[in-house]
Amino acid sequence: MKDCLFCKIANGEVKSEIVYEDEMVTAFNDINPKAPVHILIIPKKHIAGVNSLEEKNRETIGQIMLVAKRLAAEKSVSESGYRVLVNSGPDSGQVVEHLHFHLLGGEPLKPI
Ligand code: 5GP
Ligand code: ZN
Repeated sequence: MKDCLFCKIANGEVKSEIVYEDEMVTAFNDINPKAPVHILIIPKKHIAGVNSLEEKNRETIGQIMLVAKRLAAEKSVSESGYRVLVNSGPDSGQVVEHLHFHLLGGEPLKPI
């Protein structure tokens, strides 16, 4: 989608520290990390958020969770623990309207 920051990150127009990529998914370090490990995992194709999910997105969402597991292992937080979360809408604090899963870890996280 034109003028979407995360679409531009996915297609390389905007630079980011990419840590994983395949045909469906891109993962990159958050620019303002809230924990020692803070990675954003996004679908390459634009999906605005959870409210916009459709049946056809099922495989992509599954892949995002498998990538989260893989990156947690690569970053050595599988055993120490980590959090995978998605913000949706104003009350959650979602600021970028391209679906993104936060992977957070590397220190004890505040309880939600
Ligand atoms: P949200 O609050 O929408 O769930 O999270 C958006 C996240 O995107 C924030 O954690 C923010 O730091 C991150 N972010 C915003 N702009 C950029 C950017 O240009 N590059 C990267 N790597 N992360 C960004
Ligand atoms: Zn987008």
